[in-house]
Amino acid sequence: MSARFYQTAIVAIGRFLCVSVNRVFTKSAACPLGYNSPMPSEFDLIARYFTRPARSGGPVLLGVGDDGALLAPTPGETLVISTDMLVEGRHFFAGTDPEALGHKALAVNLSDLAAMGARPLAFTLALALPAADEAWLEKFSRGLFGLADAHAIELVGGDTTRGPLNICITVFGIVPAQQALRRDGAVSGDDVWVSGTLGDARLALEALQRKLSLSPAALHAAALRLHRPEPRLALGLALRGIASAAIDLSDGLLGDLGHILERSSLGAVIDADTLPFGETLASQPPAIRREFALNGGDDYELCFTAAPALRDSVQAAARQSGVSVTRIGCITPESSLRVTDAGGDAVAVISRSFDHFGNP
Ligand code: ADP
Ligand code: MG
Repeated sequence: MSARFYQTAIVAIGRFLCVSVNRVFTKSAACPLGYNSPMPSEFDLIARYFTRPARSGGPVLLGVGDDGALLAPTPGETLVISTDMLVEGRHFFAGTDPEALGHKALAVNLSDLAAMGARPLAFTLALALPAADEAWLEKFSRGLFGLADAHAIELVGGDTTRGPLNICITVFGIVPAQQALRRDGAVSGDDVWVSGTLGDARLALEALQRKLSLSPAALHAAALRLHRPEPRLALGLALRGIASAAIDLSDGLLGDLGHILERSSLGAVIDADTLPFGETLASQPPAIRREFALNGGDDYELCFTAAPALRDSVQAAARQSGVSVTRIGCITPESSLRVTDAGGDAVAVISRSFDHFGNP
C-alpha cells in the first residue's frame, strides 16, 4: 500500500461523496472537494451526461469508467471501425441547436457503418468544450442518446477536455466475414443506385448562409435534412450480398461516387434526369436542382452498385428497409465519370464535392 495508493483512494472517495452530494442537493452544484473552480469537473460532466447503466446481454462487457472499454466480438464477424469529427465553424454554425448536433454527430458516423453493411455495436465520444455549459450538455446528450437508443447501441468511453467546440465520435460495428460492402467491388455493367433523395441539405445550408431565399416552411423542411440525417443502417444490412460496392454520401454524389470508381478502377455514366431531388429542392429552378443533387453534400444517403440481374433484389431490400432507391446510371469500363440527360447528351458539370483543404 503506497502513499500514492492512499492519495488516490482519498481523492476517489472525495469525488464519490462530492458527486453523490451534488446529486442529492442540486444537480448543477459545484463540487467543493479538491477543486478550485466553481465549475463542475470533467468527471462530474462525464458522470452526469455520458454515463448510463450498461445494457445486459449485449456486446459491451465494460463501458465508461475504466481505462478502456471491453467489447466481446462475435466469432465469424469482422469488426468495422469508423471515426468522424464535427468542428464548430467548419461543419456547423456556432449556436446550432445542441440536440440536433448530438443527433448529427452520431448519425454521420452510423452512416459510415451503413455504407459498410455493418450492424452498429457501440461508440466513443471525444469532446472539446469551451466551457462546462450544462444546459448545452443536457440537450446535446439528449440528441445523442435519442439516436443511440433508436439503434440499441451504447456509449462506451471517450475523452472530455476544454477547447474550441469539437465533437469526435468513433463507431464500432460488425459484419459477417467477407460480407462488408466496400468501395472497391464495383463491376463494369453494374447499375448505380442511390437511396432516398438528394440536395435538400445543401439547399438549407445555402439558405442559412443567405445565398438564396426560401419560405420559412421550405427552410424548415430542408433544414431537417441538414440537421437530422437518418443513417440508412437497415438498407445497408439488406444490401449485403446484393450490392457490389457502396459509399455514403457526405461530400456530394459526384465526388463520393468518384471514390467508388477510383477504388474499383472503373467509370460511370449518370443520367441527370433520373436524380431523386429532395422534396424542397424539387420546386427550385432546374440548374439549382441538378447542381445540388450532384454536388450537394450532407445527404447521408447510400450510393451503391449492383448487377442488373439483381434489380428486383435491390427493390426488395429497399422495401424491407422502408427507404426508396433510384437507379441513376451504370458502371463503365473506361475510367471517366460522365453525366448525361435522358436523351444521352452530355451535361456539363464539374465535380465540386467538398474538400476541406481544396476549397477556400
Ligand atoms: P483516462 O485518463 O484513463 O483516459 P479519462 O479520465 O479521460 O480516462 O476518462 C474517464 C472515463 O470516462 C473513461 O472511461 C473514459 O472513456 C470516459 N469518458 C471520458 N469522456 C467521455 C465522454 N465524453 N463520453 C463518454 N465517456 C467518456
Ligand atoms: Mg482520457
